[in-house]
Amino acid sequence: MSELSFPYPIPEYGTEPYWAACNEERLVMQRCKSCGKFRWHPAPLCTFCADDAYDWAPLSGRGRVYSWTVITHAVHPAAVARVPYVVVEVELAEQPNLRMISNLVDCEPAAIAFDADVTRGVHTHARWPEAAGLSTRLR
Ligand SMILES: [Zn+2]
Repeated sequence: MSELSFPYPIPEYGTEPYWAACNEERLVMQRCKSCGKFRWHPAPLCTFCADDAYDWAPLSGRGRVYSWTVITHAVHPAAVARVPYVVVEVELAEQPNLRMISNLVDCEPAAIAFDADVTRGVHTHARWPEAAGLSTRLR
């Protein structure tokens, strides 16, 4: 039986700069040119002031654990070998309430705690090295 491939992201309109930065091991996010706030997920309008002007600004990759869950049942056949694994909601250091979802890697579930410091990591897909994604590690 051949090894199943884990799904990988397909950049689509509006998210291409994010994925391109991942491939350069950087974390970027849309930042409103009017009010200066970051927003996640990518969107054509600012979720704070509705302005449509933005740039893609770098982030430090630092944050803290806001919440997490331990996945014990794979939802995709390719994930069977990964369970249990941790999905974490991270509040990023740059802005209060700026949160994104990530995998937490290289960490035993029992070691996770609310407000634990984390930093971003990068993982690449075994079959599609051009399809990098971000992961998170405890600091
Ligand atoms: Zn704004």
